[in-house]
Amino acid sequence: MTLAHRIRLVPTADQEVYFRKACGVARFAYKWGLAEWRRCHAAGEKTNEAALRKALNAIKREQFPWMLEVTKNAPQQAVKNLGRAYANFFEDLQKYKRKEIPWKRVRVPTFKKKGKSRDSFRADNWCDAKHPDAVAVDGKRVKLPVIGWVRMREEVRFAGKIVSVTISREADAWYASFVIEVEYEPEAHVLTNTVGVDLGSEALATRSDDTPKVPAPKPLRRYLKKTQRLSRAVSRKQLGSRNRAKAKAKLARSYARTSHIRQDALHKLTTDLARTAETIVIEDLNVTGMLANRHLSRTIADLGFFEFRRQLEYKTAMAGGRLIVADRWFPSSKLCSVCGVKNETLELSERTWTCLSCGTFHDRDRNAARNLARYPESWAGSACGADGADRRHQTTVNPAA
Ligand SMILES: [Zn+2]
Repeated sequence: MTLAHRIRLVPTADQEVYFRKACGVARFAYKWGLAEWRRCHAAGEKTNEAALRKALNAIKREQFPWMLEVTKNAPQQAVKNLGRAYANFFEDLQKYKRKEIPWKRVRVPTFKKKGKSRDSFRADNWCDAKHPDAVAVDGKRVKLPVIGWVRMREEVRFAGKIVSVTISREADAWYASFVIEVEYEPEAHVLTNTVGVDLGSEALATRSDDTPKVPAPKPLRRYLKKTQRLSRAVSRKQLGSRNRAKAKAKLARSYARTSHIRQDALHKLTTDLARTAETIVIEDLNVTGMLANRHLSRTIADLGFFEFRRQLEYKTAMAGGRLIVADRWFPSSKLCSVCGVKNETLELSERTWTCLSCGTFHDRDRNAARNLARYPESWAGSACGADGADRRHQTTVNPAA
């Protein structure tokens, strides 16, 4: 299993200069590759990222000697990323032709702009036969190709083989994202319980058991407001002015802070879930549909549903539990978790409701979580029965590792 771990770096001034240089090289290589790709396409020639990397290697000593000042991984990975971007593009193109997505959702590879896209470069651990271990960690420091040891804020928590490390800049801070190949023995979970979890807008999460709702982190709202205010401030400043640059830097810091608060809350939530439940059932949010609904878009984006699911996937797998994702047509909010009757008229704004059939008073979130907890038997069970042929009702079940 591969895990990612992102740690703040504490580079010296020289190291920061090197990072900026390497990011510049990566950005340049990406641009060069994109221009080449387009040129080949216009000339009717075939190309791919491997060919482009070869071509760049052949000319860089002559034409771009400054590239040699940084790790050769930086330009190489950038061209690989370009290959990935094109693969995504071709995939999207197929989806567009099958009318599954509108044209505006097709991700066309474009030129990255300095300061607009995220600055980063990647170093692989296995450089070549001469440098089998280009990346190493020792306590709170990491060894990178060419530059050597760089201090980190904390230690790498996972034991395993480092596959690669990506250095990136966020606002004015530098981070190392490690990809680590971890070997683990999945054990049977000590618990046997099933917990349904409903992600909400007011509370961060509500569990089907009677534990209190997990509140959204308090500073989040404040920082979201601040971020909004700062982004308005940026747009009021004159284009290209020093004040605009300053306002932008401020906005970037506030934005980073917001995403860290959210990320921290999600990690605490998912760790707690994986520890206290064997089987976890969550909703499969139809995010494309939901983002179209302007009311909801803010919430979904703020909570980071994909991140929630991603974290649960690996944390349950490591704990020996399992994650079940209910299919998106499962009406977790509308069913009465006591008698099973569906409330067809339930509006999104109704936080509580009373079941007309059995008279139970429901908290919307808690009721949804309880329905999710019963999902494995109720919904999946019925789908295998007489009406099981209906594809829409098939379930996505990730078996225990
Ligand atoms: Zn009822």
